Amino acid sequence: MGLKKISSRILYYPHQSKTDRPLLAYIKGDKMSLSVDAGNSADHVDEFYKALACEGLKLPDVTVITHWHWDHTYGMHHIHGISIACRKTNEFLQMERNKLADSSYVRLIKEEDECLGREYKNNKRIIVTLSDIEFEKDLVLNLGGMTAKVFHAESPHSEDSVFVYIPKERVLFLGDSTSEDFYNHGYMDQDKLHSLIKMIESIDCQYCILGHSEPLTKYDLLSYLQSIISEE
Ligand SMILES: [Zn+2]
Repeated sequence: MGLKKISSRILYYPHQSKTDRPLLAYIKGDKMSLSVDAGNSADHVDEFYKALACEGLKLPDVTVITHWHWDHTYGMHHIHGISIACRKTNEFLQMERNKLADSSYVRLIKEEDECLGREYKNNKRIIVTLSDIEFEKDLVLNLGGMTAKVFHAESPHSEDSVFVYIPKERVLFLGDSTSEDFYNHGYMDQDKLHSLIKMIESIDCQYCILGHSEPLTKYDLLSYLQSIISEE
């Protein structure tokens, strides 16, 4: 599998549903290159980096994490360069790391989550690390010739949702923020969904990039989200 292009400066490595691997994005500035999400394992990171090498692209200098869930963070220990996450994400990662010290927890998550079990078969070790740089609410990265606006906002999917907006290319990365909360029995919080829709509406973007699907236009994503708002 190879990289796909969104614009001349933004590419992505497509998601893989068999092991729940999310899409990994690559944003090429003149000075720095940025990845969105670290992937679900060292193997996932290696695959992504191989695809970058095939295109003659350098490894990312910085990797921004969209939220703490395993499929977006278990590859963090293996990335090139520096990782950035919000404080809340690091808090969740710390809790996850504590739990993983117990082998019965490791066994449990491998059984409960088929995709995780498949990715970590043959006793492949799960390693969780916190980020190198932590921010509270937002952060602007000057990549050279373009900026990346990284910010936390409310979403129904997880408390620590982080978004990456590239104004120059009019692309917004949303992680899994538009999905329900799988850690709360798949609950879809309507207030948080409303607030997320408002945020997306306020952003001048053409494409919206989610973790587990192909890129969508802003119009298509908003139409979909409007359709799942429950009528009261
Ligand atoms: Zn998630």
